[in-house]
Amino acid sequence: MLALQGDFEAHARVLMELGAAPREVRTPAHLEGLDALVIPGGESTTMTLGIEREGLAEPLRDLVRSGTPTLGTCAGLIMLDREHLDLLDVRARRNAFGRQLASFESEVQVEGVGEADSPFRAVFIRAPWVEEHGEEVEVLADVDGHPVAVRQGNILAVAFHPEIAGDPRLHAWLLEKVRQKA
Ligand code: GLN
Repeated sequence: MLALQGDFEAHARVLMELGAAPREVRTPAHLEGLDALVIPGGESTTMTLGIEREGLAEPLRDLVRSGTPTLGTCAGLIMLDREHLDLLDVRARRNAFGRQLASFESEVQVEGVGEADSPFRAVFIRAPWVEEHGEEVEVLADVDGHPVAVRQGNILAVAFHPEIAGDPRLHAWLLEKVRQKA
């Protein structure tokens, strides 16, 4: 987990419950030997500054481009977009739901992830949505026509916070990708 800022501890709890051994990443050296990457929710400007300060941008790009299964949530989705790490061919719109809808919960069905089960009880907190995306990006869920869950190859990104609701299915998807690679 990228642990410069944000709610990485909540992700760590979900991952540990699934039997994984999460590690906090704060410097390039911490990326050594990782099987998967989580970029948590938080504040994307602060996270960007931390990435610059630590010289993490290129090492993170190398890790994800080499096929490492990656999950980004909320600010994590923003960090993956064209204007930030440029790993997902999307343009995220920050705080997209506006003031009145700053924070809300919604039932979201994410295509191909735990689909046979109930929808996600998705918690949105000053969440982004995907404003525009390239052809290789698959939209897995939307709210009122705005994409809030997308996948591109080894990368899954959602605008909501699955770790707050304690729903482990997105993290389980990530670990399943790791097993498929092994
Ligand atoms: N609004 C935040 C940002 O733009 C993201 C919010 C979140 O991660 N919960 O960075």
